[in-house]
Amino acid sequence: MRATPEQIAVVPKVALHEHLDGGVRPETVAEIALEIGHDLPAAPDQLGAWFEEASSSGSLVRYLETFQHTTAVMQRPEDLARVAREAVHDLAADGVVYAELRWAPEQHQGAGLSIEEAVEAVQSGIDQGVADVTGSGRTMVVGQLLTAMRHAMRGLEIAKVAVEYRDRGVLGFDIAGAEDGFPPILHLEAFEYLRRENMHFTIHAGEAFGLPSIWQAVQRCGADRLGHGVRIVDDIDFSGTPRLGRLASYIRDSRIPLEMCPSSNLQTSAVPGMTSIADHPIGPLAELNFRVTVNSDNRLMSGTSIGREMNLLTDAFGYSLGDLRWFTVNAMKSAFLPFDERLVLINEVIKPGYAAQA
Ligand SMILES: [Zn+2]
Repeated sequence: MRATPEQIAVVPKVALHEHLDGGVRPETVAEIALEIGHDLPAAPDQLGAWFEEASSSGSLVRYLETFQHTTAVMQRPEDLARVAREAVHDLAADGVVYAELRWAPEQHQGAGLSIEEAVEAVQSGIDQGVADVTGSGRTMVVGQLLTAMRHAMRGLEIAKVAVEYRDRGVLGFDIAGAEDGFPPILHLEAFEYLRRENMHFTIHAGEAFGLPSIWQAVQRCGADRLGHGVRIVDDIDFSGTPRLGRLASYIRDSRIPLEMCPSSNLQTSAVPGMTSIADHPIGPLAELNFRVTVNSDNRLMSGTSIGREMNLLTDAFGYSLGDLRWFTVNAMKSAFLPFDERLVLINEVIKPGYAAQA
């Protein structure tokens, strides 16, 4: 039986692929922009719509341009903390019980903050947000992933800060930004460092570029998870009974998690020929038992939430509550949180939360 919107609204959710600068409230962007004198492209009441429209142009490069306005208002420590705290509140309102918030500290040094000061500002906001949410009796666990921008070549420096703060809120590392022309291997030094330090990392790969990017991320860099990874379908022959190529088989056999973000992929035309959520590879990949997870990527740019993505997927593929639970448990298994803490969330929060709706 298809999950209902009422059930989807309240079931526990897990957010693995969630950009802090992609989930700012439009009113917060407007308020801070006014304070700091940053010019915005739309009036405050039309800002949310502007972000969504500008992000739906079909180009990843154009999509990434919208972030200039969110990062502009996230430069002072108080603003970083505010955005992080509000993100925790908004995720909790969506039913999220565990989130990894990723962001690129190198883009938040405009007011003179060091990378470390920026990380501490975000952590203070997360701590406040989590205290607010858990204070009302709910479960909420949130960590940071530090992102390095693919084109900026500060990967090793950011990776070192991630390791330095591993016991103070940072759970892992990521690279993001324009994928075409900036393959993961450019940051190999950072990934080798992280592996020596036994630190977790994910890599945006297979979103705007195909199989070579995914292969490098997994086989040369050693990514624990793939950001998007949708283009793995290029290595599957769907004529007749699906046949997996060597890379697709490796990813499935190794249970490498795919952080899928359907609406975002539709907006940036990540998959050639995709015109609706029903064309998104998450459907066939789930059926083939890849370890797929559902994420929102950028709630502001896509005007979405994990709950909304679950509704869209349910409309497209007829998912039941059991299917949505499978995605959620997949995500929790794939988290960068210590294993015993993951188990507690799966067994004491996620499974009972779904059972209560069944
Ligand atoms: Zn992303």
